[in-house]
Amino acid sequence: MTETSYELPDGRLFVGGEWETGSGAEIVSTFSHDGSENRRLAGASEADGLRAIARAKAAQADPAWRALLPHQRARHLAQIADGIEANIDRISFIQTRDTGKTRGETTALAASAAGTFRYFAAVLETADEELTTQRGDCLTLSVHEPIGLVAAITPWNSPIASDAQKVAPALAAGNAVLLKPSSWSPLVSLELARIVEEAGLPKGLFSVLPGAGREIGNLLVEHPAIGRVSFTGGTATGRRIGAQAGQKLMPVSLELGGKSPTIVFSDCDMDQAIAGILFGIFSSSGQSCIAGSRLFVERAIYDDFVTRLVEATEKLVVGSPFDPATQVAPLIGFEHRESVEAYIALAREEGGTILTGGTRPSGHAFDAGAYMKPTIIAGLDNQSRTCREEIFGPVLVVLPFEDEADVVAQSNDNDYGLACGIWSKDFAKAWRLARAIEAGTVWINTYKQFSISTPFGGDGASGMGREKGRQGLRAYQRQKSVYHGLSEAPLPWARWP
Ligand code: NAD
Repeated sequence: MTETSYELPDGRLFVGGEWETGSGAEIVSTFSHDGSENRRLAGASEADGLRAIARAKAAQADPAWRALLPHQRARHLAQIADGIEANIDRISFIQTRDTGKTRGETTALAASAAGTFRYFAAVLETADEELTTQRGDCLTLSVHEPIGLVAAITPWNSPIASDAQKVAPALAAGNAVLLKPSSWSPLVSLELARIVEEAGLPKGLFSVLPGAGREIGNLLVEHPAIGRVSFTGGTATGRRIGAQAGQKLMPVSLELGGKSPTIVFSDCDMDQAIAGILFGIFSSSGQSCIAGSRLFVERAIYDDFVTRLVEATEKLVVGSPFDPATQVAPLIGFEHRESVEAYIALAREEGGTILTGGTRPSGHAFDAGAYMKPTIIAGLDNQSRTCREEIFGPVLVVLPFEDEADVVAQSNDNDYGLACGIWSKDFAKAWRLARAIEAGTVWINTYKQFSISTPFGGDGASGMGREKGRQGLRAYQRQKSVYHGLSEAPLPWARWP
C-alpha cells in the first residue's frame, strides 16, 4: 500500500488570527520512527503571547462574537467539526509524524476531535438558563456568561483530542482561546488552527502558541487577562499551575498523570481480560494517562493468567506507525525512551523480575527509532517506586491479591486516582469494587473506552475538575444570579419618603 503523504504545517504560529514566525526558543519536531526531522520552528515567546492576548481580548469583546446567540455560536463549532472531518486523513498523517502514534490511533483521535466540536455545538444549543423558584417579590434567574480569555495547555500524547476537549467547550461558552501545545508535538495543533481559520471563526478568537512551558506556558497562566486555565499534563507541572492559579484566584482544571490499577478476579472471562489488559497498557505504547499500568491478579489464577498474558504480549506487533499491522509503535522520542528505560533499571534494582520485554527491539527496522518492547515486570511490592510512579511507557507491573478487601486497599494505596479496570463476571462484586476504588473513571469488563458525553477527570495526584459531558460547557462560564424586582413600591427598610 502506498501511503498518502501530506504537506506538514510550515512552522509559523497562529497568533491571534495572524500566521507569524515565532520569536521564542527553537522547537524541533521529529518523527520517532527514524529520528528524521519533521519541522524546525521558532516557538512562541512572551512577546508573541502578549500580541495573541491583545488580539484575543479585542475579538472576544467584539459584538461580532460577544453578541452571538448560542445557536449562532454553535454554527461556528459545527463548521469546525466539518473542517476536521474533511481533513481526518491529513490530521492523522501529521499527528503520526509528530508523535509516532499509529495511523489507526491518530485517525480515531481526529474523528473524536470532530465529534467533540459537534457535541459541544449541541450542548450549547440545548443548555437552558434557569428561572429559579421565586421566594419574594423578584423574578430570580441563574444565567451563564463567558469568562473571557481561556488558556488551554496540552501534552504531547494525544494532542488533537486533548486540544478539542478544551477548545470546543471554551469557544462554545463564548470565550477566546489561547492554545499552548507541547513542544514535542506542535504540528497537529497548528493544523487545527488552519482548519479553524478556514471554518470562518472570527479572527483573534483562537491562537496556537507552541513553545517552552516555562516561557509561553507560564505567561498564559500568570497574565491577568487570562481568566481560566485548562491544563492537561504531568502532575509536577499541574501542581505548579494550580499554585499560580490559587494566587490569582483563577479557576483551573488539572488533568494529570495516573498509575491506574486493573483488577482481575478468578471468575473473569480470561480471553476478554487479556485482550483488555493488553489494549489498556500497550496501545499508544503505554503513553496514555489512563494506561492500566498496575495489574492485580487474584492469587488462585495468578500463575496461569500471567503465563497467558506474557504469551499474548509476545505476539504483539511492534513496528512502524505507518504499517497497518503495527500495534506497538515507537515512543514519542529518544529522551522519553531514556526515562522509560531508567524505570526498567529501577525495577531491577527494586528486585523486580522482567517477565518479557525490558529492552529495545533488535533489527534494522528499529535501529533508528525510539522503539521499546512491551514489558511486564513481576515480583515487586506495591510500595516500590516502580509501582507508585507513572512510567508513561509500555511497562506493566503485575501483583497478586488475596481477596476483595486486599485489592481495594492495594489499589487505593497510591497517590493517583485517574482510572481503574475490573474484570469479573460477578456483577454485584464488580459494582462494589467500582464504588470502592478511588478513581475518576472505572471500566468493568472493558478498558479505555470513551464517550464525549461522559465526564472525565481524576482525583488526588491525577488532578481536579472534569472535562466532557454537558457540564463541560459550564466549566468555561461564569454563573450569574439576577434578581429582577417586581414591586413598584420602594423597599420598606429606608422608610422614605
Ligand atoms: P508536561 O507537564 O511536561 O507538559 C504539559 C504541557 O504543559 C506542555 O504543553 C508543556 O509545555 C506545558 N508546561 C510545562 N511547564 C509549564 C509551566 N511551568 N507553565 C505552563 N505550562 C507548562 O506533560 P507532558 O510530558 O507533555 O505530558 C505527559 C503527562 O500528561 C503525563 O503525566 C500524562 O499522564 C499526562 N496526561 C494526562 C491526561 C489526563 O487527562 N489526565 C491526558 C494526557 C496526558
